[in-house]
Amino acid sequence: APAPTHAPAAAAIPVSQMDWDSLKTAVMQCRKCGLCEKRTQAVFGVGDTRADLFLAGEGPGRDEDRIGEPFVGRAGKLLDQMLRAVGMNRQQGVYIANVVKCRPPENRNPRADESDACMPYLDRQIQLAKPKLLVALGRVAAGRLLNTELPIARLRQRLHDRNGLPLIVTYHPAYLLRNPADKRKSWEDLCFIRKVLKGNDEN
Ligand code: URA
Ligand code: SF4
Repeated sequence: APAPTHAPAAAAIPVSQMDWDSLKTAVMQCRKCGLCEKRTQAVFGVGDTRADLFLAGEGPGRDEDRIGEPFVGRAGKLLDQMLRAVGMNRQQGVYIANVVKCRPPENRNPRADESDACMPYLDRQIQLAKPKLLVALGRVAAGRLLNTELPIARLRQRLHDRNGLPLIVTYHPAYLLRNPADKRKSWEDLCFIRKVLKGNDEN
């Protein structure tokens, strides 16, 4: 087979052993997949590094690529509203990151080879944050985190397990902007998320 064009740069320590700082540096310099070619910058993640709730999206969009933070565009504003409605915010108790850290051109879905290349970073972020609950935002993140092709309707309102961590699937906020009638269901999902987080506190 021909040598890959995007060979990993020599790293001093494996991703699975990096701390937050070295992990962020590795992501910002990463060239492990073709998405590095067209990014303005990699988008690492934002929030409370010891969050109970870890939200995973799909990948940066145009605004995120420009600003360098996940969910800062229109979908992000809606996500912030939703978090606020249940008494949470991205500074406290919540961490937000994406399956791929670099923007797919034209906002297409990340390909399997791209999310495969990037997944160790998200896995390490989850390990470091040690959340009580993972939430997959939308079908792409859910599909990747749960290794499934089932639609959201079949995945939401259930407590899944990902490598021993509870995981809930809900709609992507960008989907809710296009389908506001489903906001009611996403509200149910938020209540479910809250209930699971609280239930954890009582244990
Ligand atoms: N959509 C995502 O999945 N992630 C972002 O960061 C922004 C939009
Ligand atoms: Fe690296 Fe992920 Fe960006 Fe690909 S998407 S270049 S694997 S950080």
